[in-house]
Order: sequence, then structure tokens, then C-alpha cells
Amino acid sequence: MHGTDKADASGRSGERRPQFWQVARRCCQIAGTVDVAFFFLFHALGSPILAWVNVVSVAMYVFAYKALGHRRNGLAIGLIWAEVISHAALGIVLIGWESGFHYYLLMFIPALFVSMPIRTALIALAGLWGCYVALDVLMWFVPPLQPIAPGALLAVHLFNLTVVFAMFSYLSWFYLTMVTNANRKLRRLATTDSLTGLFNRRHMTYLAEKELARFERSGHPVGFLVLDVDHFKGINDAHGHEVGDLVLSGVADIIRAELRTQDLIARWGGEEFLVVLPDTGGDRAQASAERVRVAISGYNWQQRVGIPVSVTVSAGVSELRKGDDLSAAINRADRALYRGKARGRNRVELETAL
Ligand code: GH3
Ligand code: MG
Ligand code: MG
Repeated sequence: MHGTDKADASGRSGERRPQFWQVARRCCQIAGTVDVAFFFLFHALGSPILAWVNVVSVAMYVFAYKALGHRRNGLAIGLIWAEVISHAALGIVLIGWESGFHYYLLMFIPALFVSMPIRTALIALAGLWGCYVALDVLMWFVPPLQPIAPGALLAVHLFNLTVVFAMFSYLSWFYLTMVTNANRKLRRLATTDSLTGLFNRRHMTYLAEKELARFERSGHPVGFLVLDVDHFKGINDAHGHEVGDLVLSGVADIIRAELRTQDLIARWGGEEFLVVLPDTGGDRAQASAERVRVAISGYNWQQRVGIPVSVTVSAGVSELRKGDDLSAAINRADRALYRGKARGRNRVELETAL
């Protein structure tokens, strides 16, 4: 439950997700290979025209593949569209509707909706429907131009059906991965602070409220720490904002390293951090804060930021009391923190008793 939780790790793996052009290239490879197989299949089945159509198709996929390599996605998509539509139409006109070449056209329906604005997609969809119905009706009245034996027709039909099943499965997997990764990324953006990777204030408020509700039910102690970097403005002024940022992310890393996995850590403000320690009373919370304080002041900051800087924090500690709301517990920790500041900084102060 640390500021950077598992969503982060998987979010990073999400960035290794294949790009659109890589998936499209893979589709070109698969489709090109299928067409090479078709070349031999149709030769064997005695349909030389369809066999040679596949040579043109393979050439189109090779061009589309190369275009994708140069990120000319529009050209590649156009080539793929032209290939699938003309290939399906030719297959149907030559050997008949039962060949199942029309199934390939159906694969455009999801592709249209994800790749273009909705109005354009609807127009293209109407065009696709028109082509599909026109071919269907045509084949009711016109016999195939180059029919093949019924057994061969069944084999082609089953082959096409299987390829379309496989391609739909692959596309569905790809869209699902894309949506899942996008969701994960959005969740991370909405809940964490980008500089430190800790929870942001809004998400911490939500988590701390849940901890408050748990306290009301179970009465298990809950500790609060407010930590603030001492004279941080001075660090910024002396060494620049970038060094300031490095110090902040370093402080975040140290807090994370010194506390337990179940502790909730947030960047609460500019150089202020809030920690909620479940099942931890005031004394133990104070000990945790002291551990963090010592780790920060003893840290080799030169190694981290490249120049010698002295970084210390002050911390205020409070323990949740019956009837507290979130701000009451934080305010008591805040008051303790400012007592620590007034007493010379680089100190941990426990809230005063009732
Ligand atoms: P004190 O010991 O009393 O806390 O003094 P301080 O200088 O730390 O406190 P003050 O509130 O005067 O200054 C906080 C500074 O933190 C001011 C602000 O510019 C800086 N700051 C806030 N957010 C960021 C940030 O994201 N990056 C950097 N580099 N600086 C920040
Ligand atoms: Mg400060
Ligand atoms: Mg401050």
C-alpha cells in the first residue's frame, strides 16, 4: 500500500506494450503468410486466377509492412483495406459465397470504430455493409466464375473461418490489453504524485478516510506523521529548483524505505509529506518518524544530487482519537511539527496530551 503500489510496476510493464504499427506489421506478416499458403492451395485446387491474385496480395502486404516501418500508417492502412476488400470480392465472385471470403470483411467493423472518428466510421460502415450485401445478393443470381470441387470448397470455407476466428481473437486480445493498460495508467495518474511516485493528496484523503472508518469499527490505533523538509526554500534558492526536485524524490524514497508496506505515504503539499500508520500508536509512530529523520539527515545526498547539500526534516506525530475527523488528527500533528520547527528543526515532536 506504499505510495508506489503494484499499479506502478505493472504500469511500467504496460509501456512495453506493442505499438499500433508493430501490431499492424504482425498482421501483415500473418496475412502475407496466409496468402502464400493460398497461392499453393488454389493452384492445387485448380483455380489459377485466385492463385495469382495471392501474389498481388503478398506484394501489397510487403508494401504495407514497409510503409509501417516508415510510420506511414495511413498508406499502410489503405493498402490493407484495398487488399482485403478486393481479395474477398474476387474470391467470392470466382468460387462462390460459400468460400467464406466474406468473413474477412466483418473484421473491419471493430477496426473502423477504433481507428476513425465516429461519423467517418459510420459512413465507412455503411459502405462496408453495401459491399457485403451487394456481393451476397449478386451471388444469389450469378454462378461463380471459376467454381471448384465441393470438397475443395468446404476446405477453403473451413480454412477461412479458422483464420477469421484466430484474427478476431488476436484483435480482441490487443484491444483488451490496450484498454486495460490505458485504465491502469489513468488510475496511476489520478492517484499518485508524478515527482515522487507517492500518493497524491486526493487519493491519500480517500485512503485515510477508510482508515478512519476502520478505526471507528475496530479501535485499532492509527498514527499520523506530518513531515516537512527544513529550510527547503534555501535549498532551492542556493542550488536551483532541479536540485530541490531531486531532494524531494530522495526524501520520498527514504520515507518509503524506512516504513512498512502497509503504511500510507503521500506528498501532502510542496515539501510536506503525510504518513498514516495503521495499527500504530503514538509512541511507535514517533519511533518510525525518528527512524525516517535519522535516515534523511545521515543520507549521502552528494551521491544523489551531485553536490553537497544538507537535508533534514522535522516531523509532527499524532494518534487518532475517538470522534476525530481527518483534519483534527492532521492538525494536531501539524501543531507538533511547528513546535519542532520552533525548537530548532531536524526534530520529531509528539502531539501534546489532551
Ligand atoms: P521550513 O523549514 O520552515 O519548512 O522552511 P522552508 O523553506 O522549507 O518552507 P517554505 O514554506 O518557506 O518553503 C517551501 C518551498 O518549497 C517553497 C516552494 O517554492 C518550494 N517547493 C514547493 N514545491 C516544490 C517542488 O515541487 N519542487 C521544488 N524544487 N520546490 C518546491
Ligand atoms: Mg519546509
Ligand atoms: Mg512546508
